[in-house]
Amino acid sequence: MINRFMEEHITPYYAIDKAKLRSNCEILAGVQERTGCRILLAQKAFSAYDTYPLIAEYLCGTEASGLYEAKLGHECMPNKECHVFSAAFRDDEIEEIFENADHIVFNSPSQLARYGSRAKAQGLSVGLRINPECSTQEGHEIYDPCARGSRLGTTRQQWDELMSPELINILDGIHFHTLCEQGSEDLETTVEAVIRTFGDVLKGLKWINLGGGHHITKKNYNISKLEGVINQLTTAFGLTVYLEPGEAVALDAGYLVTSVLDIVQNADDKIAILDMSAACHAPDVIEMPYQPPLYKASTDNGAYGYILAGPTCLAGDVVGRYFFENELKIGQRLAFEDMAIYSMCKNNTFNGMKLPDICLIEEDGKLTTLKSFGYQDFKYRLGM
Ligand SMILES: *Cc1c(COP(=O)(O)O)cnc(C)c1O
Repeated sequence: MINRFMEEHITPYYAIDKAKLRSNCEILAGVQERTGCRILLAQKAFSAYDTYPLIAEYLCGTEASGLYEAKLGHECMPNKECHVFSAAFRDDEIEEIFENADHIVFNSPSQLARYGSRAKAQGLSVGLRINPECSTQEGHEIYDPCARGSRLGTTRQQWDELMSPELINILDGIHFHTLCEQGSEDLETTVEAVIRTFGDVLKGLKWINLGGGHHITKKNYNISKLEGVINQLTTAFGLTVYLEPGEAVALDAGYLVTSVLDIVQNADDKIAILDMSAACHAPDVIEMPYQPPLYKASTDNGAYGYILAGPTCLAGDVVGRYFFENELKIGQRLAFEDMAIYSMCKNNTFNGMKLPDICLIEEDGKLTTLKSFGYQDFKYRLGM
């Protein structure tokens, strides 16, 4: 698809692939239909709200990390559910959160004690995030809410010390989020731990939210195992099951198109300097870290190898080494794939870098522009 648009629009720009977004949503809708679970879009991964009407054809609503995302979900996916979780809510935002969300998940018994009964009185469904203390990921400590010293979620020990009968009485549901780009085998392991540590608690509740990190739309994800886990929770405990994936909704549903500005050589390495920056426009490349796929290039072999890097002052502003069939030329365009998630909603203007415009590949095959950015978007955050 992207080959038809490579020469359109000024680079760098993101291009959201609506058809791919729809096919991801169809997979998620299948899980909902077969199990009765309810799936929400985790907006922190993808919040290009012009696509919310499409997503709303399939999913049950949005999940928010705080006030602004809750407002966005409420405003741009109206008449759908809006769940909010934050590690700690603030006094000066809580009323507005109540106005925008219909489900609120607290991180600790003390936050539940501080705001829970007010939330309930305003008609919200109230949950508590638990920490099942079951790590299923290796080498990614910053993405492991079950890592030692984690602030995310209430452990069983904290529950036993702090949850009074009055607090338990406020609860409608339990939430956990412990996965990141993982399969349903790890979910199964985690749910076993949840039942082992919190099984007695689940009995009296209405819902359980299994968080995000489920790689449901990835090839080879075991969907029937996921459905087995959901059905088990529904049958054994009578719970409505929520999932709130971000990544799985918009996986592979976008590109970042860039141009080669210069090619330099350092000893044996050829380096192409692009007009996109990993640090600014695809920060997870450096933070996670990972190397995104590139259209018509390989990450492990080919005739011509280049290190692809950004134009900023950061020495580590490097996307990775890629191999091509032909030599790269100055002015040539390249398209990084899987650039819809954790990109637009996480980018920045470090070095005064321009934000990439946001375009949409429509389902009829046209490219439209949702948003163009310029100097003002850099300047307005820094002063008068
Ligand atoms: C990050 C996050 C999600 C979404 O995670 P993905 O990996 O994008 O699926 C959902 N819920 C919570 C609480 C999160 O922190």
